Order: sequence, then C-alpha cells, then structure tokens
Amino acid sequence: ADGARVPVVVIGTGYGGSVAALRLAQAGVDVHMIEMGMAWDTPGSDGKIFCNTTAPDYRSYWLRTKTKQPLSNFLGFPIDRNIPRYTGILDAEEFGGITVYQGRGVGGGSLVNGGMAVTPRRENFGAVLPSVNADEMYDVYYPRANAGLGVGTVDPAWFDTAACYQYARVGRKHAQRSGFPFVFVPDVYDWDYMAREAAGSVTKSALAGEILYGNNHGKKSLQQTYLARAKATGRVSISPLHRVTSVSPAGGGGYTVVMEQIDTGGGVTATKSVTADRVFFAAGSVGTSKLLVKLKATGALPNLNAEVGKGWGDNGNVMCGRANHMWDPTGPLQSSIPCAGIDNWAAGGAFAEVAPLPTGIETYASFYLSITRNPNRARFSWNAAASRVELDWQTSWKQPSIAMAKTIFDKINVKEGTIYRTDLFGGYKIWGDHLTYHPLGGAVLNKATDDLGRLHGHPGLYVIDGALIPGNTSVNPFVTITALAERNIEKIIAAGL
Ligand code: FAD
Repeated sequence: ADGARVPVVVIGTGYGGSVAALRLAQAGVDVHMIEMGMAWDTPGSDGKIFCNTTAPDYRSYWLRTKTKQPLSNFLGFPIDRNIPRYTGILDAEEFGGITVYQGRGVGGGSLVNGGMAVTPRRENFGAVLPSVNADEMYDVYYPRANAGLGVGTVDPAWFDTAACYQYARVGRKHAQRSGFPFVFVPDVYDWDYMAREAAGSVTKSALAGEILYGNNHGKKSLQQTYLARAKATGRVSISPLHRVTSVSPAGGGGYTVVMEQIDTGGGVTATKSVTADRVFFAAGSVGTSKLLVKLKATGALPNLNAEVGKGWGDNGNVMCGRANHMWDPTGPLQSSIPCAGIDNWAAGGAFAEVAPLPTGIETYASFYLSITRNPNRARFSWNAAASRVELDWQTSWKQPSIAMAKTIFDKINVKEGTIYRTDLFGGYKIWGDHLTYHPLGGAVLNKATDDLGRLHGHPGLYVIDGALIPGNTSVNPFVTITALAERNIEKIIAAGL
C-alpha cells in the first residue's frame, strides 16, 4: 500500500527477481515485488490468456499500435498489422541502432521466450563471468538453477520420428554433412506434454505455433516454477501494472521507492511510494540499467560509480534463413520450441539454434538464431534534454556476428548448393542484424557492483538480473542469469543481507 514500510522491494519479476524473492522468503524475509507488466493470469474473451503468433492481437505488444514482429516479412510481403495500444506481453524497445525484445508481465522474459535452457560449456565460463568461481557454479548453482527451472531435453528417439521436428532433423543433417557438431538444446517446455500434443490427446501449444506472445500450455514459465514456490511461502506479494520510477535514500534509513500505477492503455492512474530497507534491481538488463543511469545522473543515487550503464552487449544475436532444395522440406507442422543447435563456438565464435518457422505451410526454409562472440559493448547514458536514457549501440557493430555466423552457413550453403533467404527481413536483407532477444550487462558484476551484486556507494541496494553479466554468455542466457542469482542471494543472505 502507498506509504508502507517493507523489508525488501524487488523491482521486476523475471529470473533474477524470482530467485531473490523465493530465497529471501524461505529465509523468513517478507518481499514485495513490483512489476510494470500485467499478471497474465486471466483469460481474454476467447478463453485464452495468451494470443498466437499467427494472430497477434491486443495482447501481443507492449504499448504499440502496430506489431513489430522479429521476422517482418514473409515471401517478401510485410506481415505487421495494426493492434490496439495495450500493455501487451512483448516489448520491442527501440534504441538508436538496435531493437531490444523483452517480456513484460509477472514472469518477465520467461513469458515470451523459447524456453531454451542452456548451460555454457565449462571452458567458456571464464569469459562469461571472469570473477566468479567456476567450480561452485558448475557443482552447485547451475544444477540448482536447472532443477528450479524444470529443464529437460527432448527424447532423441521421439525426435527422430516426430513430424514437428523435421525442420530440426534437416538442420542436423546439414550441420553434420558440413562437419559441424550437432547438439540437442535443453528446454523448460514439458516434453511429455509435447508428445501428447503430437498424439492429439491434449490442447496444442508448441504444435499450434504458440511462442513469443506466451504459451497457454506446456511451457514452464516462472509463473509455474520459482514464482509459484515464492507465493506458496506466504511471504511474497506482487503488484503488477506498477512501474518503478525512482529509488532514493529515505530520511529514516532505507530507500524510498516511487512507482506509477498504470492502466492497460499505459496511462498513469496513481503515483505511490513505499520505503524499503533493501531494494533489489531485477528489471532486466535494460530496465535496471535505465533506472540506475537515470538515478545517478539526476542525483537520486549520487554515489553509484562510473561503471553504471557500461558493458552492455547483445549476446551476439543474429538471424538468417537458408533456402533448401525440394528434397529437403522442413515440414508444414513445426514445433515452436527449438531443440537443436550447431556448435561452432570454438572454431568460429558461433552457436546457432535451428529455429522454427511455424507458418503452417511448407516453406523449404531453414531458419537460425545464432549467438556469437561479438566483442562490441555499448553504454547507456542520460539525455537530460530529452529526459531519457539512450544506448549508443550501432547497427554496424553486428558485422562481427555476421562474419561468425557465416563460418557455419556459408560452408553449409556451399556443401548443399543452396543460398540464403532474402525475404524474411524486408529490403532483400539476408541478416537479421537489427535486434536482440538477449540484452546483457549495464551494471556489471564486480564493476558497478561488488562480487555479489551489491551496488557500490549505496548499502542495501543490489542488482540481481541480466544487467550483471558483461554482454555475452556464449549460449542463451537465462540459465546463467538464474544460476548467478542463486549464487549471489545465497551468499548475500549468509552475510546477513
Ligand atoms: P527479465 O526477465 O527481462 O525481467 C525483468 C522484469 O522487470 C520484466 O518483467 C519487466 O517488465 C520488469 N520491469 C522492467 N522495468 C521495470 C520498472 N521500472 N518497474 C517495474 N518493473 C519493471 N533466453 C534463454 O535463455 N533461452 C531462450 O530460449 C530465450 N528466448 C527468448 C525469446 C525472446 C522473444 C526474448 C524476448 C527473450 C528470450 N530469451 C531467452 C532471453 C531471456 O528471456 C532473458 O535473458 C531473461 O528473461 C532476462 O532475465 P532478467 O531476470 O534479467 O530480466
């Protein structure tokens, strides 16, 4: 309630925030979580909570009047459509040189993402989080995160026969014919449920093209895992449709947290404040960075150090499609949950996921999301005149990512006698180099914070989300974000908060 005093406020309900809330509550601490997006627990007039990728409606995008689909075109035609402005689930946040996709709602990115739950190869960990003890991570915190998230892997025997993974088997065949290591990619989707979808005995989700705007079934988002357990403690409350705008030292100790309550059209209906002894920033890499950069620049948190806002990367995301021959159809039915990858990290700096194109028709296309070792890092800064935080990423900074992805796909194209698709991004573009799904950094561990995520200069303030990770995880990031949060909160609680 407005004016209340609480022990802990957690800003954001994604991976970092959910881990913090659960572990603090289990330690006997009352936690209040503040989330700018909706609760996503109530069906719409069609009986469904989430809308489908084939028919994005008001629920799809965060406060936009037109969809901004990652694949903007198909067979050369633009596919974006007008929608009512609404606090929808997926934010396509535009900065100068990049569009950053993020989940909005209770559960954060877990609501919209593909659920690919990948632990980095151990030999790559030193470059991911240089100050963190790898033994502890691989012995304790990665296993804890994988268990807490409900990670599993497709049954290889089922994979070999399932119609919905023909596209992935084509991806495997092409990878192996060019000599690249093929790997199964674990996921938090319930694989037994998917097998029953294929058998026709349950309501389809992955096999009905659901992903990106939420899955009505099958996917274990944070709502089903960490947040369910956190709520069951009785110590965690959540305020959806509340956006934190300020955190500053309070007169009698602790911090004043100011927030705006918004309606589903994005209008501000109330401004409230609470006082918290401790505040965890878990608003995601972009959300946390934007808040901290603004609060430092405007004098609300003057003692934050000069590292705040620095070290932001896109996890080297780049997309592309390849046109297959008629004898390599990828199938009209494609599971929206990817389960296959091509690992050329060591030799070429790229890990490519074989992604679906769930259009319902045969496309003869193979589609890939590559994670690459892109070295470029951007910085958030406060534009006082415009009262806004900006990011200095340049579109041309994706060139290293394209070169790394080409180490895989140029070779496959030569071997198969095939070419890249030019109809997926508009303007005959081959490379989807305008976006990222994996924002990381902006309040880097051991730089903007100490080695546990405690912000320098303001005791009682913590960062516990993707902002801690310096720009790249070599694979999809949420298992690493979760494992790091598990590590940090355990040590923070042990140190007496
Ligand atoms: P988030 O999960 O982003 O949570 C932050 C939360 O804070 C959000 O709910 C946000 O609404 C809220 N918030 C922000 N600002 C404020 C504020 N001022 N006040 C109140 N609340 C606020 N990763 C994988 O590992 N595997 C995948 O398969 C995968 N696929 C993806 C697909 C898509 C389309 C997208 C967008 C992302 C995908 N990701 C994937 C990335 C993954 O979802 C993110 O890395 C992860 O969610 C980040 O976790 P986080 O805890 O840092 O923050």
